[in-house]
Amino acid sequence: MIQTARLRNLTDAPVRSEGRYVLYWMQAAQRAHGNAALEYAIAQANELDLPVLVAFGLTGFPEANARHYDFMLRGLAEAKRLLTRRGIAFVLKKQPPEALIRTLAADAALVVCDRGYLKVQRTWRAKLADGLDRRLVQVEGEVVVPIDVASAKHEYAARTIRPRIHRVWDEYLRPPEEVAVRRPATELAFESDFDLDRPEAIVAGLKVDQAVGAVKRFPAGETAARAQLERFLRQHLARYGDERGKPEAGVASLMSPYLHFGQIGPLEVALAVRDSGVSEGVATYLEELIVRRELAINHVFHATNYDSYEVLPDWARRTLADHAGDERPYLYSRAQFEAGATHDPYWNAAMLEMRATGYMHNHMRMYWGKKILQWSTGPEEAFETALGLNNRWFLDGRDPNSFTNVGWLFGLHDRPWGPQPVFGTVRSMGANTFKKFDAPAYVREVERLAAAEGDQTR
Ligand SMILES: Cc1cc2nc3c(=O)[nH]c(=O)nc-3n(C[C@H](O)[C@H](O)[C@H](O)COP(=O)(O)OP(=O)(O)OC[C@H]3O[C@@H](n4cnc5c(N)ncnc54)[C@H](O)[C@@H]3O)c2cc1C
Repeated sequence: MIQTARLRNLTDAPVRSEGRYVLYWMQAAQRAHGNAALEYAIAQANELDLPVLVAFGLTGFPEANARHYDFMLRGLAEAKRLLTRRGIAFVLKKQPPEALIRTLAADAALVVCDRGYLKVQRTWRAKLADGLDRRLVQVEGEVVVPIDVASAKHEYAARTIRPRIHRVWDEYLRPPEEVAVRRPATELAFESDFDLDRPEAIVAGLKVDQAVGAVKRFPAGETAARAQLERFLRQHLARYGDERGKPEAGVASLMSPYLHFGQIGPLEVALAVRDSGVSEGVATYLEELIVRRELAINHVFHATNYDSYEVLPDWARRTLADHAGDERPYLYSRAQFEAGATHDPYWNAAMLEMRATGYMHNHMRMYWGKKILQWSTGPEEAFETALGLNNRWFLDGRDPNSFTNVGWLFGLHDRPWGPQPVFGTVRSMGANTFKKFDAPAYVREVERLAAAEGDQTR
């Protein structure tokens, strides 16, 4: 049973029992297990004695490049294999999703979709719902607490959303029950537009930024995600509380690329952590995974200009404008930042980690971004540089977390601090950062990781 707070009818149209299948439009939740929308579709299909068809529309996604598509397509190839094993049909077409789903809906009893919070995801769902003569049910499985339950308004900071989430999270920390398919999709034959067993060939044919290549550090797909989660629970969770601020310690879970592409769900991760039997680290981890991540989602949902400088709080824009004329200790262009060509070896190492491996430790992300603010000609240019690089190179970029955390660099979800040149009262980060961890060890680790990737992304 999926909790009713996770369900929303996006059309009032009826279920058409004469349909040939129940159609699940897979978009945000790209996995065959631990997927509330999929389990809901199966349960509905079982009641109607129909098979399930899962469809994916491959289309241009803002800022997506070869690195992102490679990871996504490898994950979808695995999802297809696992769905087939469960008796579910899968089709992928090179088409805008709302157009593909509208066509396939003509033979569906009802359509089920997952929920996404970015503008493009919301627009697709609204376009599909417009005039659709089948019931369209949205299932919200990519957050622990459904966002409208957590809060009906744009929250100010972690401290304002935290008590609201804590109040209800036990109620929502329940996995979607896996439902066996009653009617296997043997009679449904749909041809995909691509051979998913050859993701490199598909990516090579896409008109996207090919200069940002695939990475080896993160093997794609839900099995890899679960293996990494297991490793984290066994080896690192107990140290996470004390050492998560140390980039060289390697105790982060590396879940963010998998969460971004829906190759694993936050409920599965949260439950595994809560029930791990480890006592240390659990509360700190759940704070990041649930409170911080869902605060970011609250932000992009309520502030649809999340990708523009104007989204920042008034006090922050005012103080940054007051200090726009301050002399910068160093000045770099976006190209110099992107090349990792600053005077600072730690900053350059962070940029190398990002470029070569698609990831950076949270603590270094903070330092990396604060220095872009300090070393750019003005705060608006710094915002564009930070967001542009973030979304280009990170596998987990283009996420609610991307927009919200880049905003945080410029005062979002934060409060005024003691005034500093350039930053004004926006929080700064300086040389003290490196007193708290072994920065040379971090640089060595990045060099090792980058060498393991080979030359193509450097
Ligand atoms: C400037 C800047 C840019 C960032 N850009 C992104 C981005 O593009 N995509 C992205 O997913 N995260 C981003 N973050 C947030 C955070 O750094 C990453 O989520 C985290 O480092 C991912 O690694 P992990 O999964 O190993 O994290 P862990 O420390 O293991 O945390 C587990 C999970 O908790 C969540 N989480 C952790 N820290 C935060 C945070 N500060 N805010 C919200 N959720 C959090 C993530 O879902 C993460 O996967 C950014 C942070 C900063 C300061």
